[in-house]
Amino acid sequence: MIRINQITKSYDNVRALDNVSLTISSNEVVSIIGYSGSGKSTLIRCIAGLEPYESGTIQTDVTPVKDYKGIGMVFSNGNLFPHLTVLQNLTLAPTKVLGISRKEAEEEAMQILDKVGIWSVKDAYPDSLSSGQLQRAAIARSLMMKPEILLLDEPTSSLDPVSKSEVFNVLTMLKDSMTIVLVTHSIDFARSISDRIVFMSDGKICEQGTPSEIINHPKEQKTKAFIDHCMNMVYEIDSPKYDHPELNARIEVFCMRYRLPYSETYSIQLAVEELLNLIPLDEGVKLLISKSDKGLEVEATLAKGAHPYLSPEHVKDELSYNIIEGLCEKIEEETNENNESVIRVAIRQNTI
Ligand code: ADP
Ligand code: MG
Repeated sequence: MIRINQITKSYDNVRALDNVSLTISSNEVVSIIGYSGSGKSTLIRCIAGLEPYESGTIQTDVTPVKDYKGIGMVFSNGNLFPHLTVLQNLTLAPTKVLGISRKEAEEEAMQILDKVGIWSVKDAYPDSLSSGQLQRAAIARSLMMKPEILLLDEPTSSLDPVSKSEVFNVLTMLKDSMTIVLVTHSIDFARSISDRIVFMSDGKICEQGTPSEIINHPKEQKTKAFIDHCMNMVYEIDSPKYDHPELNARIEVFCMRYRLPYSETYSIQLAVEELLNLIPLDEGVKLLISKSDKGLEVEATLAKGAHPYLSPEHVKDELSYNIIEGLCEKIEEETNENNESVIRVAIRQNTI
């Protein structure tokens, strides 16, 4: 159990936490989501006892063991000691802080490494591990102290999809045996693992509820805007020499999230490529790809003053235009409230 009662915390002139209250039950998994700067890290650092705060209280029912408070913390970069092997990283704190013998700590470490699937790299140094192995080693290191509460600050933020799944599987395995508070920017991760999601904004808890309440039926406008922002893909192009492979990879990851068939992923990649071939890119273009019940939509917002020239008589590359027409149900052009040209296309379903 964690009971946070009206805590307020400021850095210089910034109020990072503004009168936050939150109670988390034993063995509950709570994800904290929100824009960067909304106070998520500050909140879990306060729970971990790493940060002083001006007012309010935080209580837990954890029993400290010697100098260990019973709360584990995992950071996004793992933070392993680079000059120690995985095994040495794991045994350091239990031997130093809890006074456990090296032999006993090593036996325990082997079991935990086996549990999280990285027993085979026990003698490796951190710089030779994959990012998923590193993050699992960091979690294993926390587990060595037998925490009752595990706090994780964006544990998958720098991970590729495979590594992200590895960490996800480890946390799923742990979730029934401890209280987990997870700061994450991944809505999918939060949805799959959490009992409750807390959305923070400007140092306050804006809304909280079950994953379905927060993700599918948010009540607050701010929550809805944040969820929309996370579920869509935004990509900014700043010149005609944009990074094609990166854009295609981002589209692939986006489509994977919705488990779209490869044919649809390919359609959208092709439609985007042909669209970018038709519109002026010198001043920049903002792409927004979104998925709704109706299917996939691509919206391109041109720089102010740039004109799309998409009408059949003006189009600069007829082949590109024909490909888009073949792939898409509609091609719309309009001017938005900022006087920018916006093009919208909806990908035809089952085109291939
Ligand atoms: P989040 O994790 O949601 O991105 P943080 O908790 O890191 O947000 O930050 C909340 C606010 O506090 C931000 O405005 C941030 O700039 C500020 N802040 C965080 N840590 C420090 C620090 N060590 N010194 C000064 N300001 C900080
Ligand atoms: Mg943070």
